[in-house]
Amino acid sequence: MPTHRSSLITQNSCARRVLVTGGAGYIGSHVVLALGEAGYQVLTYDNLSTGNRDAVLHGELVVGDLADKPLLAQTIADFQPDAVMHFAASIEVGESVNKPLKYYRNNSVHALNLLEAVREAGVNRLIFSSTAAVYGNPLELPVTEDTLLAPINPYGASKMMSERFLADLAQADEAFEYVALRYFNVAGADPQSRLGQDYANPTHLITRALKTALGIFPKLQVFGTDYPTADGTCIRDYIHISDLAQAHLDALTYLLNDGTSQIFNCGYGHGFSVREVVSMARQVSGIDFIVEETDRREGDPAELIAANAQIRRELGWQPQHDDLEFILRTAWDWELKLSKGRN
Ligand code: UDP
Repeated sequence: MPTHRSSLITQNSCARRVLVTGGAGYIGSHVVLALGEAGYQVLTYDNLSTGNRDAVLHGELVVGDLADKPLLAQTIADFQPDAVMHFAASIEVGESVNKPLKYYRNNSVHALNLLEAVREAGVNRLIFSSTAAVYGNPLELPVTEDTLLAPINPYGASKMMSERFLADLAQADEAFEYVALRYFNVAGADPQSRLGQDYANPTHLITRALKTALGIFPKLQVFGTDYPTADGTCIRDYIHISDLAQAHLDALTYLLNDGTSQIFNCGYGHGFSVREVVSMARQVSGIDFIVEETDRREGDPAELIAANAQIRRELGWQPQHDDLEFILRTAWDWELKLSKGRN
């Protein structure tokens, strides 16, 4: 059943309208809040399979699935969005290796459903959540947007396919423009602790590490110490969620000002190893939690670092939180809030 939250901003009928799929999830919810604060009218479309109703802090929520084409079409027809942001997806590399069809259905087939519904409704601006996983094990670092796409897991392949749908659609359909944002490792939480990551079974490194510090998990496993990196563990480009949210607002402004289709990396251009992240998690939490070194996890590339000159130049994106300690500190504040029961 739809939930309505009103605010002065959503009652402003002149405001631009943005439909956000997956707006109850980790990244989507931060973007919904940022959109609200920037004066947009927002409608979240989310099946709440991994998202939380309480995370939608602005606008309206329609609980629906992207498989439900009639509801999707009706929602778009009723809301008449100026643009759509598509976050709803499955996002775990390890799970994608074991359940590839789930990833092709949720990430590729459902993206196709959305694109069909969007075009049938005459909406012609879309921002798509893509991932650095489309690059696989890149031959050159940092990775530019022109690097060959060669995903090494079904998650990356499922997102690559959706990117292809978008590129082909934009090529065929003059009115349609999109921005695909290839996220590197998104982490941290809203600096005011209003939102953060809140999955039933978190798999991402920073969340696992901090929940281990809190005693929710008995130990943190480090997946592989024999990678060809300085300390043998994987290196990732961790980007703070607020900077990523801002990239979406910048992309939206760009498209609403008649920008043409583009693809951008979202990362800071440098990375940290798993061991460095673990060390910062211990420092920020003040807890010397147990770490166990284990075998590699399937599907993990050794190193992923974004070249970000393009998004800075084309969208004017200016990250504010390129600071691993800040990322960990905001994530820790959020974990503390969750552990006390959010209110
Ligand atoms: N990782 C780890 N232990 C964990 C979770 C992740 O060692 O409990 C490693 C993982 O193998 C990868 C890095 O941390 O090298 C980042 O993984 P994450 O799942 O956070 O993000 P991904 O890069 O897969 O999107």
